[in-house]
Amino acid sequence: MNMPELPEVETIRKALNVHLKGRRISGIDIIDPTLLTGHGRNNGSSFENAERQLHRMIGCTIKGIDRLGKSLIFKLSSKDFLLMSLRMTGRLVLSRPLPSARGRFSFKGEPRVLNFIDRRRLGELHPMSSETLNDLRKRTGPDALQHWEVPRESARKESRAKIHATLLDQGFIAGVGNIYATEALFRAGIKPQRTFKSLTRDDFRRLGRDLGRVLEAGIRHRGCTFDSYRDLFNRSGRAQKYLNIYGKAGQACPVCRRILQFTRISGRGVTYCSRCQH
Ligand SMILES: [Zn+2]
Repeated sequence: MNMPELPEVETIRKALNVHLKGRRISGIDIIDPTLLTGHGRNNGSSFENAERQLHRMIGCTIKGIDRLGKSLIFKLSSKDFLLMSLRMTGRLVLSRPLPSARGRFSFKGEPRVLNFIDRRRLGELHPMSSETLNDLRKRTGPDALQHWEVPRESARKESRAKIHATLLDQGFIAGVGNIYATEALFRAGIKPQRTFKSLTRDDFRRLGRDLGRVLEAGIRHRGCTFDSYRDLFNRSGRAQKYLNIYGKAGQACPVCRRILQFTRISGRGVTYCSRCQH
């Protein structure tokens, strides 16, 4: 199971800006309450509270759609924000109303609705003020696309963590998941088990450069579709066809032909080449 990472969410964000920026929200229909409350994880935020906040957004104009790591942020004319996390299988589809949607948004002058589809029901909507959003931003690392230099100064905190796990830590760098971390470490020639502390200045330079490259390639090919990811119009991405090693353990390395290895790091299955990565 692959969750949407920065390139997949960025592909959706761009399309949302094209089609919904400047639109006025005319209706919000929450069919599955856990879309607002999560599954018991949001302590203190009741469904009624969140629903009231959300319903205040009806009549507001969408000023634009930003991204915070792997989440989408709708900026509203009321100065409030709506954060959407797709998590594992969440999809946003702009189409006729779909019967399987957990929630739907309609817009003035737009015949299509924005459906939130989610087979595993882990995605969430969070209406929030600018203060809450700022707190969230402070807890989130720099965006992986903007920040080409992997921030080495946090080495004190992360020194014993394996570099693959560090890249997945959203408080360290935002937007990276298993697919693009695996690809970036392969391109940079760095073993995923290496500790953060062991990386040299040159390792960080190559890693920052290659992370940017794999993410940009992911966006160019409109994201990776292995199982559930689709774009705003329910189309699959093509980026999976351009990956070097992700999901290919047991096959030959595309560079040296040695069999690609599989290991587990912080619970995630990770593929690497024991000859090309050091
Ligand atoms: Zn190799």
